[in-house]
Amino acid sequence: MSSSKMPGWKSLPIGAAIINPPTSLEYKTGTWRTFRPVIDQEKCVRCRLCWAYCPDGAVMELEKEYVTKSGRKYSITYEINYEYCKGCGVCARECPVKAITMVEEGG
Ligand code: SF4
Ligand code: SF4
Repeated sequence: MSSSKMPGWKSLPIGAAIINPPTSLEYKTGTWRTFRPVIDQEKCVRCRLCWAYCPDGAVMELEKEYVTKSGRKYSITYEINYEYCKGCGVCARECPVKAITMVEEGG
């Protein structure tokens, strides 16, 4: 191709532009995991810290009622989205009541 037929700089896409913002949803990183976090709903005090600290947004805050064996009633429940959780363990480390256990995958 002669230089005169090469596309000019104006036809190039803008650098560093996020063309399709929700693309991260397509990257399911759950297969990277060697340990999976498991939340003990009985111990969880719904402090939301795991949700806030998870670097992958893999902790879901659900409007789902849960009543503990001792009768304490919660209107929200935190659950892990294993399609995106990489198993980094940050949630387990930050949970103030140690309600999250890292369990070896396939173990
Ligand atoms: S293990 Fe890491 S990626 Fe998975 S839910 Fe916890 S903080 Fe998020
Ligand atoms: S950090 Fe622990 S206590 Fe707080 S919402 Fe998460 S699992 Fe529950």
